[in-house]
Amino acid sequence: MAHFYQFNEDKRELSVPFDEVNEFFADSHIQALLSSKTPVVIDNFNVILVTGGAGFIGSSVSDYLLSRGDKVIIVDEMNDYYDVRLKQTNLEYLFRKYGSDRCIIYRGDICDVDFISDIYERERPTHVCHLAARAGVRPSIIDPYIYVHSNIEGTTRLLDLSRQYKVKNFVYASSSSVYGCSEKEVLSESDVVEKPVSPYAATKKACELLAYTFHHLYSLNCTGLRFFTVYGPRGRPDMAPFKFIDRIFNGQAIQQYGDGSTSRDYTYIDDIVAGVVAAIDKPLGYEVINLGNGRPYLLKDFIALVELCVDREAIIEKLPEQPGDVDRTCADITKAKMLLGYEPKVSFEEGIRRTAEWYRAAHSEGLFKPFEERESYNSAKSSMPNDTFHREESDLELSSYVEKADKQFASRNRRRLHA
Ligand code: NAD
Repeated sequence: MAHFYQFNEDKRELSVPFDEVNEFFADSHIQALLSSKTPVVIDNFNVILVTGGAGFIGSSVSDYLLSRGDKVIIVDEMNDYYDVRLKQTNLEYLFRKYGSDRCIIYRGDICDVDFISDIYERERPTHVCHLAARAGVRPSIIDPYIYVHSNIEGTTRLLDLSRQYKVKNFVYASSSSVYGCSEKEVLSESDVVEKPVSPYAATKKACELLAYTFHHLYSLNCTGLRFFTVYGPRGRPDMAPFKFIDRIFNGQAIQQYGDGSTSRDYTYIDDIVAGVVAAIDKPLGYEVINLGNGRPYLLKDFIALVELCVDREAIIEKLPEQPGDVDRTCADITKAKMLLGYEPKVSFEEGIRRTAEWYRAAHSEGLFKPFEERESYNSAKSSMPNDTFHREESDLELSSYVEKADKQFASRNRRRLHA
């Protein structure tokens, strides 16, 4: 029988059976995903700690690592920055596809020293793929403090534990946003980047500096990956590819910041996964590497492409450019090609077509609600799934792989007493 593991407040391990397969998740979307790939199991596996493993990139990387036979330890606080149902579905999918022997899921904050230290002590990761972060540029302007907490404090905590536990390779997510308002046509790792234009970008640059320090002091292998706007199935609802598909599909207005002549280098999720896994497999001392597509797309062409893929006309609300946004991003991916054998394969046209196809299926199964901009992100800490779902107490097992173990036990005991 499958189990997942969490700690209760006394740090005692609780093992929670995952035996109540439920109707909510036994839907055709998940079934389709389950049957889409046949895992190839290899003998020599790594133990890879994937932080942010419930998120968009983290769950996709975990899927790949598990499918090739690695053991994956996922840590995620499941915050409600965007609809937490998407994260739950990601975990549910991994859990059901691979079971609990090689896919271990912990819910909690990477900054919680006892929680994260216990995980290193117990699991002894050989590699770390650190993707947990507060992402998003505009929200970081509204509330920089949670970005400093998760991104800077969290990364420092993981670097420190990784050197203590002699992790072979520490791969972490940086971002193209570190390039700020660079005037250059193509953005290269050798560019001087010291003028971040948002708190988010500043935290990512800080992570790169801290990684260098830990490499210098302790010879920890650290590779930082500067992702260029990642999109695809299971993508983030706060980002333009998902938002535009969602809003145009539903006949709602989309916001076009500027005159449509800004352009961005969009990278399809499968290409990013290939780059991340190549980086995990190849310790490089200290490196920072762009992972992009190298072919920017104009905003107005992007909107036209989405119209084509969802077969509806966009209602466009034109707004001035936003503070913190950059006009153009285009990755120089020469270094990634050279060091990682990285070669993006999916064109933007094909990627958006696949994303729109996924969106239609996921939308019809009610997997998410539209992303809402907020005045404050302070409340967006970990949220219990039952808060989000307005579930009945008797439904708690439906999300047992993310529910706090002690809460579940208390609820089960109460039900037993009433039965
Ligand atoms: P995501 O929001 O889907 O995933 C991040 C996950 O981290 C979330 O599930 C969140 O709950 C978790 N998390 C946040 N703070 C945490 C904490 N303190 N403790 C534990 N878990 C925490 O985002 P994503 O798009 O998958 O991004 C993954 C990484 O890539 C992030 O570091 C992000 O900054 C970086 N990045 C992403 C993009 C992109 O286009 N998606 C571009 C550049 C950089």
